[in-house]
Amino acid sequence: MTVSRLTIDLAALADNWRALDALSDCETGAVIKANGYGLGIAKVATTLARAGARRFFVAVAEEGAAARAALGPGPEISVYSGHMADDTEVIAAHDLIPMLNAPEQVRRHMDRLPDHGFGIQLDSGMNRLGMEPPDWAVLRSTVLARAPRLVMSHLACADETDHPMNARQLAEFVAMTEGMDVPRSLAATGGILLGRDYHFDVTRPGVGLYGGLPFAKARPVVHVDLPVIQVRDVAAGETVGYGNTWTAPQPRRIATVSAGYADGLLRAMGPKIDLYSGATACPVVGRISMDLITVDVTDLPEVPDTLEILGNHQTVDRLADAAGTIGYEILTSLGGRYAREYRE
Ligand SMILES: *Cc1c(COP(=O)(O)O)cnc(C)c1O
Repeated sequence: MTVSRLTIDLAALADNWRALDALSDCETGAVIKANGYGLGIAKVATTLARAGARRFFVAVAEEGAAARAALGPGPEISVYSGHMADDTEVIAAHDLIPMLNAPEQVRRHMDRLPDHGFGIQLDSGMNRLGMEPPDWAVLRSTVLARAPRLVMSHLACADETDHPMNARQLAEFVAMTEGMDVPRSLAATGGILLGRDYHFDVTRPGVGLYGGLPFAKARPVVHVDLPVIQVRDVAAGETVGYGNTWTAPQPRRIATVSAGYADGLLRAMGPKIDLYSGATACPVVGRISMDLITVDVTDLPEVPDTLEILGNHQTVDRLADAAGTIGYEILTSLGGRYAREYRE
């Protein structure tokens, strides 16, 4: 086999949901946008539903339709982008809950689907998506009279525990929602870890479910194994890969594996990551190319059929650090070329 294998550990996914759920006394939802953070929305959604999740969150209505197809009737599926002009049919057909985020969306929803459930997304300071305080002040009583399913906002700096923005947004959210008899939600993964003041009635973890920081106790969910397709011995002074960026300091054994930046193994990770044979780290040498990576396997007694790039020995966040990005981006960049396997 010359395609790389991407194994998704559904038992670890379910464990991560339960572990995050155990950190609060309120309801724990699940964010499954971007195809379940790249891992396959159908498998992810059904696994989390079996673990106990009853409220799911997606970015756009089309993702909601895919989630509904997997989940069937029952679980609540909320759409962060709200009710956009072209969304009405999809929202109605798949029983989605748009998180209305502007006065024009509220008008559109009340006009087109007056009897269909909705939620409200408030801006508590991130200035990305959500209703501004003055607009909310005007609309609040009208909207509350129609019993929204959830009123939520999103934290900008929750992965930094001590960031003063957290308390500022919390105060703003409380001010905007005080005295309401509607379920409230503020915390994603980072917010859950900030403690009970941030939990309200529903939490919305995403990245922690999939094994990423800031949930340091997450079990790894994604495992990627790359097949070795050629091995060669190079003499001291020989170079490896594009641009001659690596020169063998002494005789070395180099394995070439079948995967590259087209598989989300970003070129910028370059020489800062390792591939693993069991617990033995083998450094990547030379540039990562589109379909191939070269690795120094001199220290291995025997070259194995595959080397692990992601899994128990190297996390998505370590790969992300090497490329100057975040685990979220690694997960959602893994791409379509892998042979994907789901482990129950
Ligand atoms: C992506 C997202 C989440 C989940 O965030 P994580 O950091 O992945 O837990 C929750 N709420 C909103 C509004 C989001 O956009």
